[in-house]
Order: sequence, then structure tokens, then C-alpha cells
Amino acid sequence: MRDSILDHPVPIFFEEVEQFTARKNYSPAVHCAPENLSHLVGKYHFPKAKWIPCGLNGCTRQHGRGFVFATKDGKEGHCGRDCGQNHLGFAFDKVLAVYQAAEKAHSEQKRLLEWKADIEHAKAEHARISGLAEIGVRRVRHLLKNYIEKTPEISREFWIAARNNGRIQAESPRESRRLFG
Ligand SMILES: [Zn+2]
Repeated sequence: MRDSILDHPVPIFFEEVEQFTARKNYSPAVHCAPENLSHLVGKYHFPKAKWIPCGLNGCTRQHGRGFVFATKDGKEGHCGRDCGQNHLGFAFDKVLAVYQAAEKAHSEQKRLLEWKADIEHAKAEHARISGLAEIGVRRVRHLLKNYIEKTPEISREFWIAARNNGRIQAESPRESRRLFG
């Protein structure tokens, strides 16, 4: 097991062939000995219809899952997972475990960021609604005050009610007229 390939534990999970064949240092056929391997760029896993010929050391067999690797002289190529293990000397399971841990950490981090964004949004909404509610209450108070002041009957009843500590004096307009009329 080479330790150096784990010095770059930022794997890319390629979902389409073009995602790595379009990379600028990629070459479809690369010769690489274990001592010339720099690091792994990422991994791929394609359905049978999208299997591709192996690009390592003239293998050319169709493989569905494997790795994209970088050589010390700056080239990138791809290889099936067994070919990687046999030709480049890394332990597939160990590398995969590192990849899975990195993927898990990445998705956890993404989830935390989403939560954080949700919380920030909720806070902003709360502040906005509180502000609106406050404006609403002030406006209603103001309207009510104007209405009471400008309507003598209401003003009078309001005063009576206020004087009686806000106790209800009448249960109906009719009763109210009898009381205050
Ligand atoms: Zn192969």
C-alpha cells in the first residue's frame, strides 16, 4: 500500500466518462509503474452500457468501475479497479474506505450548511414578520384612537368602560343604550 496516494484525499466521483476524458491532462492510454503513480484523482462506476476500455499499461479490457489516476509526470489516465491494484500497487478496499469517508464527510458538511441556511432564513423571516406585526399593531392603535376621539358616542362609552376598570356593563347594544343612554 502506497501512502502517497492518500495524500490527496479529495476524490471526485465521476458520474460520466466525459467528466474525466475532458480533463486537460487526460490521456486514454497511459503507461505507469507503481513508483510513477502520484495520486488518485477520483473513481468511477458505470452501468454495463457505459463500460470503457481500460487505459492502463495497454490493458484495453472493458471495465465498469475503476479509478482516475495521476502520474508523477503530470498525466492522468483511468484504469479498472483490479488493474489499479495489480499494476499500480494500491489496495482497493483501503482506498475505497478513504473515498467513502471523504464522501460521507462531504455530504454531512453539505447537510450542515443547508441547515445553517434554513436557520438563517427562518431568523430573517421572523424578524421581518415581527417588524410587520409591530407596524400593524401601532397602526391599529392609531386608527382606534382616532376613531374613538372623533366619535362622541364611542368616546363616551369608552370613557365609561375605562372608568369601570374595563368591566363589561352591557351584553347587547340595547342594554348598552339603557345603561348609558
Ligand atoms: Zn484493465
